[in-house]
Order: sequence, then C-alpha cells, then structure tokens
Amino acid sequence: MLSFRSPSNNERILAIAIRKIEKMLKDMQREGKDLSRLKLKKFQKTHHIDCNCKLCEEAKKKNDPHMRGLTEDGFKVYVSGDKKDV
Ligand SMILES: [Zn+2]
Repeated sequence: MLSFRSPSNNERILAIAIRKIEKMLKDMQREGKDLSRLKLKKFQKTHHIDCNCKLCEEAKKKNDPHMRGLTEDGFKVYVSGDKKDV
C-alpha cells in the first residue's frame, strides 16, 4: 500500500527544504551580506485546552498533545540579541 505520508517521503521533503534554505542563505552571504545573527525558529500554536473539535478530541483520546488542532503553524525568522523584537 502506498502512503503519501510515509516517513521516507517526509524525510525527502525535509531534506529539500533544508537544501533550499541553506542555498538561499549561502547565496546572500556570498553577496557579502552578514547573516551571522540570523536565527530560525519553528512555532506552533495549538487550540485551547478545552477545545472539543475533532482533532483535539482524538488527541485527548490518544493522550498525545501533538495531535491537537493548530491555530498557527509556521516559521519565525529573527535576529539574535535584537531588543526591539517582540
Ligand atoms: Zn481543537
């Protein structure tokens, strides 16, 4: 049986993403841009603890908070030591 969410397929997508991001940042550095303070962070905000949607219900049943519904899912790029941030 074929699964579109098989681990190997997932690993491949992650590898492509890493290569693309690294290439873009390397290219910018080659152009002389200083990116030494640049940081990347993954962030996810899950539904409220009392939420009863299908995803949260399943997560509760399986006792796995990672399966809860997401209100936000993305990446944040920031500069380390920047006090003006946040
Ligand atoms: Zn929910």
